[in-house]
Amino acid sequence: MAAAGGSAQAPRQYKLAPQRELRVEVLPDGPLRVRLVAGTAEIFGTELPPEGWVPVPPRSKVAIFTWHGATVELDGVSESEYTSDETPMVIYVNTHAILDARRSRARAAAAQGGVLEASQGPRVIVVGPTDSGKSTLCKMLLSWAAKQGWKPTYVDLDIGQGSITIPGCISATPIEKPIDIVDGIPLEMPLTYFYGHPNPSINPDVYKVLMKELAQTLDKQFSGNSESRAAGMIINTMGWVEGLGYELLLNAIETFEANVVLVLGQEKLWKMLKDAVQSKPNIDVVKLHKSEGVVLRNPKYRQKNRSFRIKEYFYGIANDLAPHSNVVNFSDVSVYKIGSGHQAPRSALPIGAEPVADPTRLVAVNISTDMVHTVLAVPYAKEPDEIISSNVAGFIHVTDVDIQRYTNNQENLTFACLCIRCTYLASMFHFRKKLTYIAPCPGDLPSKLLIASSLTWYEA
Ligand code: ATP
Ligand code: MN
Repeated sequence: MAAAGGSAQAPRQYKLAPQRELRVEVLPDGPLRVRLVAGTAEIFGTELPPEGWVPVPPRSKVAIFTWHGATVELDGVSESEYTSDETPMVIYVNTHAILDARRSRARAAAAQGGVLEASQGPRVIVVGPTDSGKSTLCKMLLSWAAKQGWKPTYVDLDIGQGSITIPGCISATPIEKPIDIVDGIPLEMPLTYFYGHPNPSINPDVYKVLMKELAQTLDKQFSGNSESRAAGMIINTMGWVEGLGYELLLNAIETFEANVVLVLGQEKLWKMLKDAVQSKPNIDVVKLHKSEGVVLRNPKYRQKNRSFRIKEYFYGIANDLAPHSNVVNFSDVSVYKIGSGHQAPRSALPIGAEPVADPTRLVAVNISTDMVHTVLAVPYAKEPDEIISSNVAGFIHVTDVDIQRYTNNQENLTFACLCIRCTYLASMFHFRKKLTYIAPCPGDLPSKLLIASSLTWYEA
């Protein structure tokens, strides 16, 4: 049965037989809400509450699935809604059950004080082409595990979407309860490393270095926390599975010491990965069906979604946060870019010298009007050389850059007089190198060091 919306629709009920799902696409402005009338149902692993309306976020595409049968009611407009009984949910939940058994074994091994390796729970990496349902499967595996009392760590390596913080980052966060249908992944304590671009091909070496930093930090955390260690990780990846994309997947499997590789929807990728890791008997490469419900998204939608993620960081998912605007003098901050970009041309080097590119080199950049509308990251680093290995405290969005160019004449002016007119002139000519930004919290920046990026968001 299919119904397409777009205009106002009256509240309607769907009676779903066991193992059926209602697939809904919400319009950019919503609003759409859902209510459980009878039975039990879940959205990507998180159960609908027994009572009350739940808003389904604008732009989202969801499946309301029931294991044992349910009646649900929709209220509001949708782009499309239809039910289906062809889902891979049984296979997915069986996969979850296998992972769960491994977690229990790891916990038991930790209690007995055995070898460290035995106390490591599943480190699952989910791979597959674009729009194969990777992010959705990650959510389900995390929510089902959390429902059972585990606190698995969600690792998101997809810099194109940035489901934990913003695009351009790789992050990790513990998932302590099923992922909230409205609020999404909890934002309280993410561990985030900033790459600064939505595409890894701009500087794959930096991407690899950051993955290594994140993996090492997580290892350190796990060594002091046997529960997290036993719960393991669910690692989400990009949909780029060819060429360099494939190489980066292999790199991620190795760096995070993944022991389960779930391959969604592509036989060829499954075979390639299976062959690539065959010398390592402790890695299982498992092929899983893709859901027909996964909605394809074009590059324009993805670009828009990146913008929305940045906006949500500052304004909240429900537009319920108010960011703080602030101004700093150019001299109060130092902005760096990671990577020297392209290597120097041979002609620019002394005779006989070989061009060497240092992809992880830190380059100080001048603040310019080009930075307006871009995102800058605020690292925890105290010194510039710590930037690459440092995770970030948060982000700011540049709203204005004021560069006063003085003429020679004005530059030579001295302002000994402190009358209002002269101090005004002084501020006009000498002190107008200012950067205005918004930040999620008030007060001074926690660091003078900032990392530049190519991520933009236009308020309009
Ligand atoms: P990408 O390669 O872009 O990261 P992906 O493989 O992670 O894509 P998802 O983000 O999981 O794919 O799914 C794509 C879209 O389809 C999402 O908006 C998701 O909510 C939606 N979706 C997934 N499964 C279903 C389903 N069974 N019914 C309806 N929508 C679904
Ligand atoms: Mn995804």
